[in-house]
Amino acid sequence: MSKHGVGADIAANAARIRERIARAAERAGRRPEDIRLVAVSKLHSAERISEAIGAGIRDIGENYVQEAAAKLSEVPEGARWHMVGHLQRNKAKQAVQIFDMIQTVDSPRLAAAIGRHAEAAGGSVDILLQVNTSGESAKSGVAPDAVEKLLEAVSEMRGLRVQGLMTVGRWDPNPESARSEFRLLADLAGRLEDRGEAEMKWVSMGMSHDFEIAIEEGANLVRVGTGIFGPRPE
Ligand SMILES: *Cc1c(COP(=O)(O)O)cnc(C)c1O
Repeated sequence: MSKHGVGADIAANAARIRERIARAAERAGRRPEDIRLVAVSKLHSAERISEAIGAGIRDIGENYVQEAAAKLSEVPEGARWHMVGHLQRNKAKQAVQIFDMIQTVDSPRLAAAIGRHAEAAGGSVDILLQVNTSGESAKSGVAPDAVEKLLEAVSEMRGLRVQGLMTVGRWDPNPESARSEFRLLADLAGRLEDRGEAEMKWVSMGMSHDFEIAIEEGANLVRVGTGIFGPRPE
């Protein structure tokens, strides 16, 4: 097999991930079909993404606007594109043209730029608020106790629909390390929803090494890269 494999490996990987998602959902007393799988394809080719879509993947995640723009036109239509990387304000205009959902909004200024461009383009874009649940200084996202304030600011803006929260768990070989962070995000989403401040439709958390823990703690959107596409090419 070549270094980056052939299409069949993506279909088999995706089937295995779906099976593990289903088992984790069942453990948590939830329905497997309520968990959305986003295949994160950063650094993988348009051809590999097309193979994933051929294998039934409907949600594609990318980290860089430029890279996503280059691949978008080479990939079959019909997939939903998710921005999961840090977004710079000066890329907001291009981002709203590409992405159906921007998962990494963590400031009012970024939200305002996204909303302005979405509105100018005659539409609106779904966003998630990114929360830094681990407190690691290198991570993007607002502090858990600042989410409510961000939500208030963003709720007034046009061109945006807040659809939930997103976090990146602490990286640790033992995925259990991120469990308390996942629980924190799910609790936050539940509290904001109870107060009627926004529809918290999506709780986006969990990657290849920890998505099962995330689902057990309430994720309904998981972002899996390596588990579907294999290791990223250098
Ligand atoms: C790269 C990335 C993923 C996927 O990571 P894997 O470990 O390859 O599954 C998920 N979420 C974000 C925000 C990422 O940057």
